[in-house]
Amino acid sequence: MPSARAFVAPSASEPLSASTIERRATGPNDVEIEILFCGVCHSDLHTARDEWEVWPTVYPCVPGHEIVGRVRKAGGNVRSFKEGDLAAVGCMVDSCGTCPSCSESLEQYCETGSTVFTYNSPDPHETTPVTYGGYSESIVVDERFVLRVPENLDPAAAAPLLCAGITLYSPLRHWQAGPGKKVGIVGLGGLGHMGVKLSHALGAETVLFTRSATKAEEGKRLGADAVVVSKNDDEMQAQAGSFDLIVSTVAVSHNLDPYISLLKRDGTLVLVGAPEHPHPSPTVFNLILGRRSLAGSAIGGIAETQEMLDFCAERGIASDIELIPVQKINDAYSRLLQGDVKYRFVIDMKSLQ
Ligand code: NAP
Ligand code: ZN
Repeated sequence: MPSARAFVAPSASEPLSASTIERRATGPNDVEIEILFCGVCHSDLHTARDEWEVWPTVYPCVPGHEIVGRVRKAGGNVRSFKEGDLAAVGCMVDSCGTCPSCSESLEQYCETGSTVFTYNSPDPHETTPVTYGGYSESIVVDERFVLRVPENLDPAAAAPLLCAGITLYSPLRHWQAGPGKKVGIVGLGGLGHMGVKLSHALGAETVLFTRSATKAEEGKRLGADAVVVSKNDDEMQAQAGSFDLIVSTVAVSHNLDPYISLLKRDGTLVLVGAPEHPHPSPTVFNLILGRRSLAGSAIGGIAETQEMLDFCAERGIASDIELIPVQKINDAYSRLLQGDVKYRFVIDMKSLQ
């Protein structure tokens, strides 16, 4: 079995450290990718520290689902990729392929429960107990789950598009963000900064909600028409009943009512942040009066992820990143919790060697 260098979490309480993992041999439908860059998502941290009760972590854990690299080898049946191509892998590496959701390329909602996530999912190939993600020098993935990276995108800044980008693009498209619509993005982190850029690019009036007044200038530079400091009640009140759509990327549980109150009649608050603890239940009358919706959304399907990459390439959109060597990952996790990142850490995988 081929082996690969990786950075792994040995347990919920130990720092990540260097190790060696196994990868399956490249099969006829597989693409073997030499990983150049891997973004650091807050989900990596939730998983490394076993914070999601619904999805317990199996150790050792290799996080990382914002992967960009070069094709090292393509199996005999592979048609869309050849050695040397720039390629990417996001949050999923397999699904049943035949259920209604998979048939619509909504593999993240596979109805047979067979979505295989890039890390911490049972490995259908049984090479390893669970799938191992992108904090590694290479990965082997079925061609159907490999994305093409347009050559005009900077590969390091494109990596976060594979999760942060698609997780915002998908609900923005589904709830029809565009000209004439007013969209709020809550939280200026990895997901949030992509939300501001994408909502603006789609033509919606875009408002950023952040806890810190110091992020106001930044929010506008990234494409927000206005910035609201969420701790300031007067600023919040001034926006009451005015939004078609609000997408919350907040990574901790919080009171949803102040945001639901900002929705127009028939407006929707979409939760994409996945905190460790549940949000307190919102006030029912706040939903009833105004026929408002509270919704959730998970990443995006493979076809939509490709559409998003092509859209970003066309519009010159990528992530604002801080490139780090893999040895700085534990420090990066601490800084993520302090909100000290502009706006995505990306691991330069050369540092593994
Ligand atoms: P991140 O970079 O840490 O950003 C989270 C943002 O939330 C922070 O920048 C901060 O924005 C805001 N925030 C943090 N603590 C807060 C608090 N106590 N009160 C209010 N706001 C707070 O994380 P990320 O990588 O963008 O991920 C965000 C969440 O989305 C995570 O829970 C992650 O697991 C989840 N996620 C979900 C999906 C999905 O498919 N649904 C996909 C990927 C990630 P301000 O400082 O501007 O207030
Ligand atoms: Zn992610």
